[in-house]
Amino acid sequence: MNNQIIACAKKYDADIVGFAPADRFSPDDEIFKIFPETKTVIGLGFRVLRGIYRTAEEGTTYYQYTTMGVENLEETVMPLALINVSNLIEEEGFTAVPQRKNQLIVNDPDSTNPEMDYTDVVRGVMAEHQIDFLNCAVMCGLGEKSMINSLLTPEYGPFIRYCFILTDAVLAPTALANTNLCDRCGKCIEACPGRAIKESGELDPWRCSVYYNGANGSKNPFMPPDAFMGFENRMDIINGTAEFDADGAKEILDNIYFYPPAKHYYRTSICARACDRACYIHLEEKGLLTKKFKRKFREGEDWKLDTKQFETLKREKEWEFTVNQKEEK
Ligand code: SF4
Ligand code: SF4
Repeated sequence: MNNQIIACAKKYDADIVGFAPADRFSPDDEIFKIFPETKTVIGLGFRVLRGIYRTAEEGTTYYQYTTMGVENLEETVMPLALINVSNLIEEEGFTAVPQRKNQLIVNDPDSTNPEMDYTDVVRGVMAEHQIDFLNCAVMCGLGEKSMINSLLTPEYGPFIRYCFILTDAVLAPTALANTNLCDRCGKCIEACPGRAIKESGELDPWRCSVYYNGANGSKNPFMPPDAFMGFENRMDIINGTAEFDADGAKEILDNIYFYPPAKHYYRTSICARACDRACYIHLEEKGLLTKKFKRKFREGEDWKLDTKQFETLKREKEWEFTVNQKEEK
């Protein structure tokens, strides 16, 4: 049945398909709590178009990444593939349990998901069981886990999203990727406009959330000159160097309103996943990606806006702010 499943998944836009036998998982893995009869986990990987990252890289459009690269894949393309492959499996008399990530659930009570509005995220309660998506991707042979916990695939590097099907069908396994793509070069860490990834590779989800949403003025063409007026550490926020905790992050996020309002479930990535783009460029330069393109991903120098513009206006606006406050009194 492997070939039928691969053909069906590809027909519905999956780019990579992998099969993990149940014995690759520990007996207490979440997959067995969800579906104790699991014999195989089927992994489906979907490329995020390189062109979508290219335009975000140039700073020409950010909306396409959010709508086509994230929302459309997660909410339309992946469910369609999942339902069709699952139907095929059930036609053969086996059970299929599709697994899409519920982006609003985070297990850690102090964490968040940068792709979501932090006020919608449900933390620390097992509202429902969720598989470890990254671990399943590795177990299915879709790719390897990088030092920053991204999935790196031999074909598309980090430009990939994924979902799974648990089934009681015994299927031929795919070999683990064993690609050694991540050389711990640290380019991903350097590229983050908010210093959200520690040297160790650990992500600070609140810093990521703040800068994913565009708090760095040097990388946000939509930021108005009076952004974050009233914040004592305003220029540190704009320069990506501010120190803050989860409550501080929430306050900053509440004041990022300057992207043209898009009524979407997913937040717009103004950092345009700089960490993943830097990684992709690195892997491409090393010639490690099997999917080749006619032109390099980054052909010129990376751009940066001068944050001095915010400093000049800061003085004028602060003066206005003080005058207004005095008048109000
Ligand atoms: S840029 Fe990529 S290869 Fe380099 S450390 Fe980061 S994840 Fe690993
Ligand atoms: S580059 Fe963006 S997605 Fe990556 S860690 Fe930084 S803020 Fe988060």
